[in-house]
Amino acid sequence: RRKKMVERVTELMGTPERIRNIGIVAHIDHGKTTLSDNLLAGAGMISEEIAGKACWMDSDEEEQARGITIDSSNVSMVHSYDNQEYLINMIDTPGHVDFGGDVTRAMRAVDGAVVLVDAVEGTMPQTETVLRQALKEGVKPVLFVNKVDRLINELKVDEVEMQIRLGKVIDKVNKLIKGMNEEAYKNGWKLDAAKGTVAFGSALYNWAISVPYMKSSGITFKDIYEKCTTNDMKWLGKNSPLCEVVLDMVVRNLPNPLDAQKRRVPIIWQHGTPDTTEGKSMLACDPNGPACLMVTDISFDPHAGEVSTGRLFSGTLKRGTECYVMGTALKVNRLTQVGIFMGAERIEVESLPAGNIAAVTGLKDAIVGSTVSTLREMTPFESLKHYSEPVMTVAVEAKNMKDLPKLVTVLRQVAKEDPTVKVTIDEETGEHLISGMGELHLEIITGRIARDKGVEIVTSPPIVVYRETISGTAGPVEGKSPNRHNRFYIELEPIAPEIVQKIKDNEISMDLPQLERRDVLIEAGFDKDEAKNLVAIEGTNMFFDMTKGIQYLNETMELVLEGWREALAGGPLADEQVQNVKIKLVDVKLHEDAIHRGPAQVIPAVRSAVKAGVLLAGDTLLEPMQILQITVPQEHMGSATGMVQGRRGQVYDMKSEGDTMTVVGKAPVAELFGFAGDVRSATEGRAMWSTEFAGFDMVPAGMLKEVVTEIRKRKGLKEQIPEPADYLA
Ligand code: GDP
Repeated sequence: RRKKMVERVTELMGTPERIRNIGIVAHIDHGKTTLSDNLLAGAGMISEEIAGKACWMDSDEEEQARGITIDSSNVSMVHSYDNQEYLINMIDTPGHVDFGGDVTRAMRAVDGAVVLVDAVEGTMPQTETVLRQALKEGVKPVLFVNKVDRLINELKVDEVEMQIRLGKVIDKVNKLIKGMNEEAYKNGWKLDAAKGTVAFGSALYNWAISVPYMKSSGITFKDIYEKCTTNDMKWLGKNSPLCEVVLDMVVRNLPNPLDAQKRRVPIIWQHGTPDTTEGKSMLACDPNGPACLMVTDISFDPHAGEVSTGRLFSGTLKRGTECYVMGTALKVNRLTQVGIFMGAERIEVESLPAGNIAAVTGLKDAIVGSTVSTLREMTPFESLKHYSEPVMTVAVEAKNMKDLPKLVTVLRQVAKEDPTVKVTIDEETGEHLISGMGELHLEIITGRIARDKGVEIVTSPPIVVYRETISGTAGPVEGKSPNRHNRFYIELEPIAPEIVQKIKDNEISMDLPQLERRDVLIEAGFDKDEAKNLVAIEGTNMFFDMTKGIQYLNETMELVLEGWREALAGGPLADEQVQNVKIKLVDVKLHEDAIHRGPAQVIPAVRSAVKAGVLLAGDTLLEPMQILQITVPQEHMGSATGMVQGRRGQVYDMKSEGDTMTVVGKAPVAELFGFAGDVRSATEGRAMWSTEFAGFDMVPAGMLKEVVTEIRKRKGLKEQIPEPADYLA
């Protein structure tokens, strides 16, 4: 039976018309895990497979040595629709709002998304975030309204009210789609129950219903309502099975890779040229073209080591295929295994053609987001955008000194697996610092290090990540090298928010070909001279070389940029990352003799000039903010608004819906420690809440000194904030 399944999967894998690559996106707790587990079980891919695996692993050592493991994050199933079989590859998306970056990368791999919304709660901020990310990636949505049983059993709505409520959810999601991408909305992406792009049901009780299914089965809305009120979930599960209704909707409405790639390649490969070999091949999803793979996930498998998962847009992968990872030293990475998912297992296959989700080993230079190709040179896919930034840091230490080398390895893995995590080493103390999206994110990561990776660690309490920026202009500022023979003159000014956004969206990027970059900059408002002379972008900072004809500067530029980067890594105020600063190098004096203008001279000269310049241009401290959305029963509204206001927060929206009230506000991350516990006790555990990254805001002037002093103390810096002169002496 198992063998037969492998045959079916491998056959389907070579028939792109019969493939659907999808993801389920939802707000936390709306039922994503329940839905995916029940779909998998319903498609007959779970219990038997896992049972089968256990005995077959024992009996077949060789198979085991090949390294096959359960990876619940990616699953695939075979679904029959209209007498034909389809291969449905489903990529997991993370459940928590803090992990925005992960949703984006999962969306890169798929062509369609099942947007899942709790019928009682309706859309939540995270529903909006994940939907936006799907649409940005050109991923087509269908809607599943879950927990319909609760409408009837808990809220006791009548049949009419139920229809009205479901209609409201659809309207709300449509409004979001229209607002995010009106063109797509008008061209058929509007959700429409009558057209079958919406299904309702209960993932928990394993049933669902859609208009097409009502038509084909003769089941009516009334039947559903009645069986629900009498709590006859068995009847529903048998006569209107979740798996069939939802997967039918997927097969019928979500695109296959052939159709999807035609539309999506121009979106996710904006800088590529369509009429190159690789361009044509990706647009056609051609298995005979060069291999073009986008890595969207990396995990560590105890048997196989590092497994890279990604979407193969063109070509065919086999064991032994020689690939190159763009943006690296371009050493040959030879694939040691090529696999796909069957059920929740990764199985090795002979060859894997375009249009599928590949799971391969041997890509030692790849990270999440890498473009991999059999071509030595290929324009990379659009880089994955992270809508959140790390806002909190913990320091970790190995409990036992002997585990230190293991900890170092594990931290490297963690950073590879989750690109929204930053791992750094504090140069002074030698501590390992992990930065993440919030308290919960860090708890999950540190928990995983201890549990899955088996390294016992001691974790410091989390601290907030701040930023520094400038409020005015300065310059020219002169930076002298220690030997005084080299001098650098720079001017500083803040970068406008619209430009910062363009950098974040990769619209302004060093990846652009030079001429294109110049045009983009001019269009964004830079003058011609500047547009020509942008030499580097670091974070959201820009460096322009406005000098002309200075001898030796070319060969010294790397050192200049190194000094600039070092200064940006820790600003003068609190040694926090500097952002949104534009620097123009306006004049340079260099020693004729290369020996006297080496790294030890140039780097500190530029670093000092930048740090002094930042102070002169009005260094300010920024703190991360979070949007809070809290839903509570009416009687707890006072405590919910109090929770936000009491934390230097601002309430900017309140909505009531029946007997519940939703409060939306914004508050600094620094004030949110212990928020979960406080909300729980203030509302007797009856609140639902979520947070979302909302950028950095200026620390209020009245608190600045106190905050800066505290950071400096914590970091072991001199209490006194440096003066420009301290850097220019
Ligand atoms: P996720 O965070 O989106 O993965 O949500 P889960 O699948 O973990 O579900 C969250 C909670 O909602 C769990 O307690 C589930 O049992 C429950 N749940 C999921 N689907 C349904 C449903 O259709 N009806 C009801 N009543 N509860 C559900």
